[in-house]
Amino acid sequence: MNKLGIFMNFWEKNWDADHKKYIRKAAEIGFDVLEFQAQPLLEMSDDHIRSLRREADACGIELTYSLGLDRNYDVSSLDETVRTGGVKYLQNIIRKMEVGGGTLLSGVSYAGWGVPEGTFDSKKPYWDQSVKSMKEIIKVAEECGVTYCVEAVNRFETALINTAKEALAYIEEIDSKNIGVLLDTYHMNIEEDNIGDAIRLVGADRLKSFHTGENNRRAPGRGHLDWDEIFGALADIGYKGRIVSEPFIMQGGEVGRDIHVYRDLIENPCEETIDAEARYLLNFEREMLKKHGMA
Ligand code: MN
Repeated sequence: MNKLGIFMNFWEKNWDADHKKYIRKAAEIGFDVLEFQAQPLLEMSDDHIRSLRREADACGIELTYSLGLDRNYDVSSLDETVRTGGVKYLQNIIRKMEVGGGTLLSGVSYAGWGVPEGTFDSKKPYWDQSVKSMKEIIKVAEECGVTYCVEAVNRFETALINTAKEALAYIEEIDSKNIGVLLDTYHMNIEEDNIGDAIRLVGADRLKSFHTGENNRRAPGRGHLDWDEIFGALADIGYKGRIVSEPFIMQGGEVGRDIHVYRDLIENPCEETIDAEARYLLNFEREMLKKHGMA
């Protein structure tokens, strides 16, 4: 069966949190993977990162990482100082991931997270800068055994890569076995003509990880996305990779600010109700995998 995971900030309103607590919680609920923001790694000692790895190994949890790149480190910037600073920043994150045995980085990590101000007539100059940067970043990913996932996200979060087709064009220019595509159902719902076709276009070889979330960023099954279409397409391509749920359900804090969550999306969000929602979504995805012959 595909490894099933969850993003740590399902529970936490700030990006950094007690990672060990959520490693144990993810395992106790029954997940295989815990994903969290990569940036806090830069503030951690190597010893601490190794202790997270030991905790994860003891719990049978794989740790994967995501990030929304701070615009101060925008690797698509036309300002060479910003761009080269961004390259170094991402290379440092990848090196920290290697310390903890991490092998997968997702998110908006090919440009600053956010959209341009003012008019924007062509993405080509920014695209070319990003490609130039990524060719330098990917060398470090290759050395460190990290797979760099280019996540296509919706137009309100990036101007560079909104669709599966654009993500494929980008990784083709980089041409490394350590780069691939990450598709996310929440973003696909906004940008793709047809979600199943987008998944089939990428295919199993290039789809390196998969994020699930509803149209409103609730847990799968709590909105109006067609999960039979989604899991049917994953079955069509023979996808064997990770499926990581990435719902954001609480207003407030850094997460509510950055993800634009302005109301609670479950009733009475507290540890107990969120744990119950995590159990529900894990069961929902397991049932979908069974229904579509993937388990
Ligand atoms: Mn995502």
